[in-house]
Amino acid sequence: MTTPEQRSTDPASIEMLKHAAEQGLEVIWDRYDAMQPQCGFGSLGICCRNCSMGPCRIDPFGNGPSEGICGANADVIAARNLARMIACGSSAHSDHARDVAHTLLIAASGEGDYVVKDHAKLQKLAAEWGIETEGVEPNDLARQVGEAALAQFGQQDGELRFVSRAPELTQKRWRDAGVVPRGIDREIVSLLHSTHIGGDSSYKSIIASGIRAALADGWGGSMIATELQDILFRTPAWLRSRSNLGVIDPKSVNIVVHGHEPILSDMIVAASQDPELIALAKSKGAGGITLSGICCTANEILMRHGVPVAGNFLHQELAVSTGAVEAMVVDIQCVMPALAKLTERFHTKFISTSKKAHFPYAEHVEFEEADALNIAKKIVRMAIENFPNRDASRVTVPQFSSPLVAGFSAEN
Ligand code: SF4
Repeated sequence: MTTPEQRSTDPASIEMLKHAAEQGLEVIWDRYDAMQPQCGFGSLGICCRNCSMGPCRIDPFGNGPSEGICGANADVIAARNLARMIACGSSAHSDHARDVAHTLLIAASGEGDYVVKDHAKLQKLAAEWGIETEGVEPNDLARQVGEAALAQFGQQDGELRFVSRAPELTQKRWRDAGVVPRGIDREIVSLLHSTHIGGDSSYKSIIASGIRAALADGWGGSMIATELQDILFRTPAWLRSRSNLGVIDPKSVNIVVHGHEPILSDMIVAASQDPELIALAKSKGAGGITLSGICCTANEILMRHGVPVAGNFLHQELAVSTGAVEAMVVDIQCVMPALAKLTERFHTKFISTSKKAHFPYAEHVEFEEADALNIAKKIVRMAIENFPNRDASRVTVPQFSSPLVAGFSAEN
């Protein structure tokens, strides 16, 4: 079993790892130790489960099978496994962008709580995409940009719009290699198809298709998400904040938002500043409401609102282990299923919000973009009502946090 000092160099994490061990709480490092030794075939990528004749595995020492039942060798199996990981990652990041594009269309409809906050960026992107901006009403322009963004997912031929942003020599190399993405969904589906049993059996061709799907995310989904989030929530500009578990305030109602997307968390920032809800928190004996973030969601509200960061992916269980978190609010991506079991050991409410990510034992408050602020307020109220259930004798918050400067963007 590794020691807290072997597990992390971060003093806050070391303190919390010792505390978790004393309390008998299981965290990710314990599960990692228990998983040793990890499967060698899996680590080398030479186990295949692509069809029901398998699973098949290649003997890396040359003493056993060198091909799967269908005849796929180690190069093909490893390339297919990598390619399918690319397809999954590309789908996740890009599906995030799809939701942001839908949110932009809701904002453009003039209904709901979202509005375009960065009109200059909207104009700039519209002009880049060849959409007429002169005399066009802002919501109409937002609608056209939102629809053009969504069309990038189902585009069947040609090149994704943002490919033209790459340096010319890079574009030429991509074209020469045949890896310029045509459409976001198209490249992901095509990659899954070609790596199925009986499909592409050239590892070079499989890797090229993987690169095309990766570029469909990097120069498609991820870039669309970044651009449209700036339009909706405004382009970040530099600001100061703090980071590490010490940002959790033992005197406050603590809400930790965790996951990937800013669509809900941006509204939770607004709800946590609502005077009525702050008064409600004080009526429960708290000093106020402290919002902090974990993982990518943290970064989204850090760079636009200066909301402090409680930690990264590895800190999610340590934050709950402080015993001072009234609600861990998650959307999707990087949310460990283990949070369900851990939050059961505390008063912490584990609140899931995404249609795409349900967790056994979590309280599910499904997020609907059309009713965003009301749902965000409901979640903040749930956290406040939970404050009196906190057991003060179990609260341990490490007194470590560091100042930081964030909010850098291509524009600022
Ligand atoms: S695709 Fe081939 S290597 Fe993979 S499980 Fe099926 S038979 Fe085995």
